[in-house]
Amino acid sequence: MNELQERIIKDGVVKEGNILKVDSFLNHQIDVDLYHWMACEWKKRFADVEVTRIVTIEASGIGIACIAGEQFHVPVVFAKKSHSVNLDGDMYTAEVESFTHKNINHVIVSKKFIEPGDKVLIIDDFLANGCALQGLISIVNQAGAEVVGIGIAVEKGFQTGGQIIRNLGYRLESLAIVDAMDAKSGAITFRE
Ligand code: 5GP
Repeated sequence: MNELQERIIKDGVVKEGNILKVDSFLNHQIDVDLYHWMACEWKKRFADVEVTRIVTIEASGIGIACIAGEQFHVPVVFAKKSHSVNLDGDMYTAEVESFTHKNINHVIVSKKFIEPGDKVLIIDDFLANGCALQGLISIVNQAGAEVVGIGIAVEKGFQTGGQIIRNLGYRLESLAIVDAMDAKSGAITFRE
């Protein structure tokens, strides 16, 4: 087991509704040393890939993406969730259905911050059904940039997102893939 998997076993809490709570170390209180390990791991796994920009989505992707940005030495851009869609054309926009809040957000990125030809590494904390990732991929495509890789902390392998994203041909590196989890016993099984 790697460091993230060990920490999930130690401090993760399985909730009803296929939710894994990791808020004591990943997305509320933050273990920065663990973020550092994650960033170094992505740097290793994407060592052969040229990256010019990291893109994530607010809020819980931002911290992870920043520490990754330190390893890749590239700017980090986060998509903002917006209730109103800016119509004056200086934003890329996508619709994202939130897995945790069950609502639809418009996410926006200023056209100033992704350039045509950028080689983008997308980073996020969780992959469930893949809606957040598909929104970010759409924004990168609108910009005429290229998604060269996707780094996820926790992929819930029993939900559809991972398979959809891999089938689309993207290189997806998830640091912990949960294949099964049980709210009653708290048991968590990782993919080898
Ligand atoms: P997706 O768009 O892939 O369905 O869901 C991804 C987003 O939902 C992530 O950015 C994350 O914020 C949230 N999410 C999905 N599943 C979980 C979960 O089990 N635990 C937590 N804490 N967040 C989740």
